[in-house]
Amino acid sequence: MYDSIVVGAGPSGGRISANLSSKGYKVLMIDLKSEIGIPNHCSGLVDERVVNIVGQDLVASGKGALEVVKHITGNRNIVRKRGGIIPIGPTELGLENIFLVGDAAGLNKATTGGGLYAALKSADSLSMAINKGSNILENYKKIWYNNFGKEILRDYEMRKILDKMEKYYKLWVPYVLTNVRGINAIGDVDYPSKILLYLMASSPLKINEIIKNFILLSNRNHNYSK
Ligand SMILES: Cc1cc2nc3c(=O)[nH]c(=O)nc-3n(C[C@H](O)[C@H](O)[C@H](O)COP(=O)(O)OP(=O)(O)OC[C@H]3O[C@@H](n4cnc5c(N)ncnc54)[C@H](O)[C@@H]3O)c2cc1C
Repeated sequence: MYDSIVVGAGPSGGRISANLSSKGYKVLMIDLKSEIGIPNHCSGLVDERVVNIVGQDLVASGKGALEVVKHITGNRNIVRKRGGIIPIGPTELGLENIFLVGDAAGLNKATTGGGLYAALKSADSLSMAINKGSNILENYKKIWYNNFGKEILRDYEMRKILDKMEKYYKLWVPYVLTNVRGINAIGDVDYPSKILLYLMASSPLKINEIIKNFILLSNRNHNYSK
């Protein structure tokens, strides 16, 4: 008999299993793959927040990505290319006593597709809600929203705006490229909304309408925080 069954042994499933086990819950984690984590779904775009949470395994995969870059820049043959689908846009976080975390709920950054930090944060949010004991789903929504969800929802709204801006890309791309120094100064891989706000605020382009829409959308009262 188990207290929890975790379906999927990716970063979010692994994290919630470890969290719950450490609190004494009896957890069964299952995965459809016989070999977990293969192929590696990480291009190495992680910062120290993730490394601090998961330790050396991720650092190793980052180094792997660097090797690939060296291959490309060194004019050598590319031996293998890999890709995958990243589902974006948050869904419902659960139903009764079934909960979704990580990519399964679209809880990654819709601007970049990066989802490792977001997956870990959602798993931690759910663990906290479970440890509170009652009203797990409602608590999970609130904790996730305050923990990292606000950024995820903002990124999703930004992604929709960026998609609409495609027709301006001939103006937009050179503008971004000439602002690399500013972007580097405020950039944070886990909080991409900061960069877009900076670019929008300092843009010479006529994008007032887009800024207005963005502010309206990002301030919208999402049901997660209720
Ligand atoms: C090519 C690629 C590169 C990426 N690079 C980066 C990066 O550099 N930085 C970053 O932050 N993010 C990156 N991502 C995104 C990141 O990999 C995901 O956001 C993250 O893995 C999500 O973790 P997860 O545990 O929620 O889901 P997953 O990692 O997808 O894990 C889900 C697990 O569930 C299992 N599963 C699925 N269906 C079932 C089922 N029906 N029954 C049992 N098991 C099931 C799967 O086998 C898998 O092991 C990349 C993604 C891809 C595809």
